[in-house]
Amino acid sequence: MLKLSDEENEVLKYVREFTEKEVKPLAKSIDENMNVPESLISRMKELGLFSSYIPQEYGGAGLSFGFLVKVIEEISRGCPSTALVLDGALTLFAEPVMMFGSEDLKRRYLPRVSAGAIGGLAITEPGAGSDAASIKTSAVEHGDHYLVDGTKTFISNGRIAEFFVFDAVTDPSKGHRGITTFVVDAGTPGLEISRDIHKMGIRGSSTVELVFKDMKVPAKNIVGKKNEGFKVIMETLDAGRVGVAAQALGIAESAFEEALEYSKNRKQFGQPISSFEGIQFMLADMATKLETAKLITYRAAESWEEREDSVKLTSMAKMYVSDICNEIATMALQIFGGYGYTTDFAAERHMRDARITQIYEGTNQIQRVIIARELLKS
Ligand SMILES: Cc1cc2nc3c(=O)[nH]c(=O)nc-3n(C[C@H](O)[C@H](O)[C@H](O)COP(=O)(O)OP(=O)(O)OC[C@H]3O[C@@H](n4cnc5c(N)ncnc54)[C@H](O)[C@@H]3O)c2cc1C
Repeated sequence: MLKLSDEENEVLKYVREFTEKEVKPLAKSIDENMNVPESLISRMKELGLFSSYIPQEYGGAGLSFGFLVKVIEEISRGCPSTALVLDGALTLFAEPVMMFGSEDLKRRYLPRVSAGAIGGLAITEPGAGSDAASIKTSAVEHGDHYLVDGTKTFISNGRIAEFFVFDAVTDPSKGHRGITTFVVDAGTPGLEISRDIHKMGIRGSSTVELVFKDMKVPAKNIVGKKNEGFKVIMETLDAGRVGVAAQALGIAESAFEEALEYSKNRKQFGQPISSFEGIQFMLADMATKLETAKLITYRAAESWEEREDSVKLTSMAKMYVSDICNEIATMALQIFGGYGYTTDFAAERHMRDARITQIYEGTNQIQRVIIARELLKS
């Protein structure tokens, strides 16, 4: 189990209350309106959730990665689209700046994230998804700046982000050793959102396609070193995968809790459906899978935080928990019977939301590739 401080455990109680009272009641309308309301994002700022993970020297509270993982899990119990706003800002934008950014970059961007400014991470391109090293976006050096051209797709937090971390090719002759990672402000001339991408699940999360055309980015905005950006992205995804596991865990918990409750109230053949062995066995399987999912998520978070060789564990957690989340969401819907298939209950939304966790930040096929590579490398 995660080792959290008394202060972190205390704050988590408020996060749980916030989820139950303010997030969960809005989840249906967030899905229907395809938007997380600004008022809810403001509440996350007020609760100090954006500043929680930013180090104290940059205006944050300096709480642990384990705490952040628990917060993502809790908020995902209420609404995974809302959790993704925070997860994107912290694990996808702030984390690479914290890990690899220059002092100047940290001083310019981290206090803004701490104050609630949202960021995103733009890696995927129309022709480069799983094969992240095959990106085509180019950044050509002109003295103290680079001119960037290319297209990034499926970018989460797209409409609400004030800045993005993105990668581009700076030396086409060197493959993945010719990629550099930068930070760019969303208002930079030459950066445009070319379309909103509509989805089956996490519909409240803004997903966009970004086009860069003669976009001028200062050389001082490089995250890490020139031509060493692929490492920045891979290490960012290492942390990000634990965030996805936590999101999947939250969705699965909600699906399970609601199905358990429903099974005790719904009567058929003169008795609650929970009295039937067929339903009981599903509940038993769901609860057991949830416990194992928690263990691997927290273990991966711990391993990442302790800077152990965490790649294998974070991939295992992302793959395993997202697969389990989908199994649980499917069983939960089954327990609701025909009502589960309607929009009167959240079971169908949980199933739709669950599906993305098997796909983004590396599909589960790619996680298996990573795990096998790690197993065989020694
Ligand atoms: C809602 C949403 C939000 C997203 N948010 C972001 C974001 O914020 N930033 C960002 O950069 N990206 C984001 N993505 C992109 C996401 O990470 C990619 O969609 C994902 O990595 C897969 O890439 P692809 O869609 O191009 O699929 P492809 O790479 O084309 O894969 C297609 C299929 O082939 C399989 N496959 C590919 N290679 C192999 C292999 N070697 N072995 C076995 N199977 C393989 C895949 O598993 C998959 O089943 C998001 C995507 C979605 C849908």
